[in-house]
Amino acid sequence: MQTNFTLAQLADPDIAESEKILRACVHCGFCTATCPTYVLDGNELDSPRGRIYLIKEMLEHDRPATAEVTTHIDRCLSCLACMTTCPSGVHYMHLVDHARVHIERTYRRPFSERVMRALLANVMPYPARFRFAAQAGRLGKPFAPLAQALGFKRLAAMLRLSPRRRPHAPRPPQTSPPVAGSGRRARVALLAGCVNDVLAPQINDAAIRLLTRFGVEVVVAEGAGCCGALAHHMGREAEALAQVKANIDAWSALGELDAILITASGCGTTVKDYGFMLRHDETYAARAARVTSLAKDVSEYLVTLPLTPEQDVNALIVAYHSACSLQHGQRVTRQPKEILTKLGFVVKDIPDGHLCCGSAGTYNILQPDIARRLRERKVGTIERLRPDVIAAGNLGCIIQIAAGTELPAVHTVELIDWATGGPCPPALRERRSEAATKPAMHPASKAVA
Ligand code: SF4
Ligand code: SF4
Repeated sequence: MQTNFTLAQLADPDIAESEKILRACVHCGFCTATCPTYVLDGNELDSPRGRIYLIKEMLEHDRPATAEVTTHIDRCLSCLACMTTCPSGVHYMHLVDHARVHIERTYRRPFSERVMRALLANVMPYPARFRFAAQAGRLGKPFAPLAQALGFKRLAAMLRLSPRRRPHAPRPPQTSPPVAGSGRRARVALLAGCVNDVLAPQINDAAIRLLTRFGVEVVVAEGAGCCGALAHHMGREAEALAQVKANIDAWSALGELDAILITASGCGTTVKDYGFMLRHDETYAARAARVTSLAKDVSEYLVTLPLTPEQDVNALIVAYHSACSLQHGQRVTRQPKEILTKLGFVVKDIPDGHLCCGSAGTYNILQPDIARRLRERKVGTIERLRPDVIAAGNLGCIIQIAAGTELPAVHTVELIDWATGGPCPPALRERRSEAATKPAMHPASKAVA
């Protein structure tokens, strides 16, 4: 694509980077076929190519963002399916990240929108505040249909996504030594994250049990918190970078590490981008690059361990949902399925698995209609497989999908932990007790009986 930035504009390293990305696009349109928003509505401006044009026009003319541009960029899920499809290697992620910062700087959103975004950015990344909000959401959950009927769609979405169980207190920093007799093969940091430990502490518990069982010391660093993705995807650059730097400081203080492991793939994609985000920061660039080189999705690391089955999982049928951030953002596709299969599960790929489930961080709250349609589509393709359980490597997807189906949805690491000697994942265990009373309604009964 031809661009016409001035030399003065190109002196800005962010503009120079975006110009490089824009020039790589040959506007072939291959990406449109795999873009969830284009697949739903067929609007060119809600396709990657359309958005690239909008961003080009906005940046090239150094214009403040308009309501139209903001609408179409806001509808982008940042699922990155377009990056997997693009034959020209267009780095859409860095381009749309830049556009979001530009929008945040130059566009004044309506009041209600500003309040909603400020709330999300000031609550979700902070576990104590988020726990309080999640508890309120849990109590209000039965009122979701009423909120929907009254037209409060975002409130309804938040209530529907609120937990059924009481949220947990955030995990204190800790070091978990390898289990006696397992040998000591490595030392890793685990990102506890902000939402994971409040809504689903069983995920990191399973990861820690599993890693220590196979000789890995696991450290949850003091001072490490939200990965910054939430603020980053809202264009709130200063907040995002402050969170990123806090994590880099926390992990740097740990000394030698063999890896930094992340159990939420949405966070993992961002942590792997720290090196790029801070490439021009004299103080942090080198340490950010080190974090990027150490960052791994937990499945990428587990596949290197000699995992052996300790439990007969009774050929449980697993519909494996490949989270966009894992398959498109990190290009990790093989490892989770390979491990599950090796441990005795029957893994089924979900048709149209490249399409997002509609979770996408806070997208299912900010764009509830599109998110609901994507969930319905995803749940339909999953249920047709008649699986016993749904597995995914990202809590956001698990919550989003679970809100639309009776099937149990768990993190891949919970199944791996179970098969190698850990407890049965709580969601599966609950279905077992329900199935004991209503056997016909719950296919999971066969597997965990
Ligand atoms: S597939 Fe790549 S090169 Fe083709 S229009 Fe999409 S982004 Fe541009
Ligand atoms: S990131 Fe996803 S929603 Fe956004 S343009 Fe690319 S494919 Fe479409």
